[in-house]
Amino acid sequence: MNPVIIIGAGLAGYTLAREFRKLDNVSPLTIITSDSGGFYSKPMLSNAYAQGKSASQLVSQTREQMATQLDATILAKTRVNAIDPARKCVNTDQGEMAYEQCVIAVGAQPIRLAIPGNAATGILAVNHIDDYAAFRLRCERDQSGKGIRIAILGAGLIGCEFADDLTGGGHRVTLIDPNTLPLAALASPALSRGLQSALENKGVKLMLGTTASSVDQADRAIRVSLANGSSIDVDLVLSAVGLRPDVALAAAAGLQVHRGIVVDSFGRTTAPAIYALGDCAEYTAGNMAMGQILPYIAPLMTAARAIARTLSGTPTVIDLKPSPVLVKTPSYPLALVAPAPQEVASGHWIETSGGVQTIARFYDRHGVMTGFGVAPQDAATRQQLMAALGTPAT
Ligand code: FAD
Repeated sequence: MNPVIIIGAGLAGYTLAREFRKLDNVSPLTIITSDSGGFYSKPMLSNAYAQGKSASQLVSQTREQMATQLDATILAKTRVNAIDPARKCVNTDQGEMAYEQCVIAVGAQPIRLAIPGNAATGILAVNHIDDYAAFRLRCERDQSGKGIRIAILGAGLIGCEFADDLTGGGHRVTLIDPNTLPLAALASPALSRGLQSALENKGVKLMLGTTASSVDQADRAIRVSLANGSSIDVDLVLSAVGLRPDVALAAAAGLQVHRGIVVDSFGRTTAPAIYALGDCAEYTAGNMAMGQILPYIAPLMTAARAIARTLSGTPTVIDLKPSPVLVKTPSYPLALVAPAPQEVASGHWIETSGGVQTIARFYDRHGVMTGFGVAPQDAATRQQLMAALGTPAT
């Protein structure tokens, strides 16, 4: 019998493998990954620096341990170059392999801005443990003892988390974003302002309402020129402008792709016996998430549980529900359920502040609460707000 083949050993691939093994400990399982196959929790990448954690300390299980735990063959440092849905096989660096069922969990790629300048190719992005290892190495070159100067492009979730973490780790951080507030796409204005003050109090310099227009080598620095006419000299530029689902493999195999790999409510792609989940997938079904990219842990876990059941013979709908994202900015810990992007223009926020805590509730055009944010966040408030989702304004 041919194995179930999972392409990718990130949280999506490994969570699916674990869920599958809870239901089926007989069928052969093969995981093929272009990285070294160690297990790590990716959200830790943006809050590990201040804790002094190296990349190897973040890997909680090696490939060998994962292979034993999952009773799986794990082919590390092996790229899948093509999928042939008609012949039910994948073409890899190690040759062709047939599958019974195949799951694509190849994640997303950092968006590379087309910024001019002779140092633009040196802009880093951290979306993998290997990126984090390379990034830490660069930070360790600091001879001054004052921390290095880092420009972060993008004050979204990841950019704000890195800004907080790297400042906590002793570096001098400038956060640059075209919006006039950090976290503008996800949080209400009051919460964004709260985060801005907290980051500034910690020592982060925010340059908002502008973008990097070029990145060039200058004497002993990298000069980031900004669209507003100013410039800053830094030692390192980190890009956190977003991710793009990796659809190349799926598209080349003739599967339907849109922004992500299109899957139905069972996680099935448009080719028989091929599924997709995680950062590469575009979920087109489920009550709360029509045609959405959901690059977070909670949805991939829900998808993994359902797809595991479907793979093992019980077709199961992925029941996606809203789940709060905890923003790992210790200077201003937020919890958010962001409204769907298409709802933002037609809905409105209602913000309340009591003592130190700010709560923002988002109401769609029908007056129904579909999102919220709270900071500083705590479990009890989060739960109350979760329970209020879907209810009308009072
Ligand atoms: P990935 O982890 O990218 O895994 C993709 C895998 O596919 C890798 O193993 C790769 O080697 C392999 N691969 C790719 N192409 C091929 C190929 N052709 N052949 C073989 N293998 C291939 N989410 C939250 O909910 N909360 C958070 O606090 C949070 N914090 C985050 C902080 C950071 C810094 C980042 C970057 C993300 C964060 N996220 C957070 C998002 C979350 O971590 C991701 O949604 C999740 O880890 C994606 O997992 P994945 O398995 O889909 O992708």
